[in-house]
Parts: sequence; structure tokens; C-alpha cells
Amino acid sequence: MTQRNVTGQKRRNSSGYIEIRVPDHPYARARGWVAEHRLVIEAQINRFLQPGEVVHHINGIKDDNRPENLMLFASNREHMAFERTHCKHGHQLEGDNVAIRDDGHGYKYRQCRICERAKHQRWDVKNRDKKRIYNAKRSRKAA
Ligand SMILES: [Zn+2]
Ligand SMILES: [Zn+2]
Repeated sequence: MTQRNVTGQKRRNSSGYIEIRVPDHPYARARGWVAEHRLVIEAQINRFLQPGEVVHHINGIKDDNRPENLMLFASNREHMAFERTHCKHGHQLEGDNVAIRDDGHGYKYRQCRICERAKHQRWDVKNRDKKRIYNAKRSRKAA
């Protein structure tokens, strides 16, 4: 069995990760702090994570420790290999999903098409709302 948060103490560390105080955790740091995302995975797989195992945040948000946002890797090497071949939202950067873009300074980068499409959709929605507000103001003035 893995340990629960017995002290009720929680903090955000300087790297932006949430930590929970579990003094009797076998891999706790000084003063008993353990990364919350590791505890979430441990509770799911019902064993302690080895120090070499790495937990990845799928959406890139370091304090989003919902189980569905976390991915476990056996080593940092596997973790880094995953990050090289996937965008920061976890889509595979391969084949049709990769667009090569230029940042305007001659630097080429790989862009995830799924994310790019999602970004454009968000932009359209935002601007549609702006237009609607603008039109509403205009029609009020005209009345
Ligand atoms: Zn990662
Ligand atoms: Zn993506």
C-alpha cells in the first residue's frame, strides 16, 4: 500500500510543482516532501515509484495532477524520447501532423497541426464574440 497525505501539508515548490508532506514515504525529500504527481500515480498503480521513474504532465501544466493528465515513464531517457516525438499536448509529431514553420528569424520549427488547428478555432471564436459586441454597440447607438 502507498501512503496517503497524513499531515495535510501541501506547497508549491520553486519549480512550480505541487508537493505534499508524507514523512514516512520511502522516497521523500528533506523534511518529507513528495511531488503530488508521483503520489497520484502511486495511488493508481498501488506501488511506490522508483527514483528513476519519471512522471510527465501531458498538457504541460505542472500543477494539473489529474490522473488523466499524467503519464509514467520507466526512465528519463524514455521520457525525453517521448517529448522529442510528441508536441506539448501529447500529439504525435509524425507524418501529416507535422508542419515545418519559420519563426520569422530564419529558425525552423516543427508545429503540431492538431494544436495549430485548435488555436485557430479558439481565435475565430474570440473574434466572433468581439464582432458581436461591436455590432451590438453600434445598433444601440443607431436606435
Ligand atoms: Zn515531460
Ligand atoms: Zn499537439
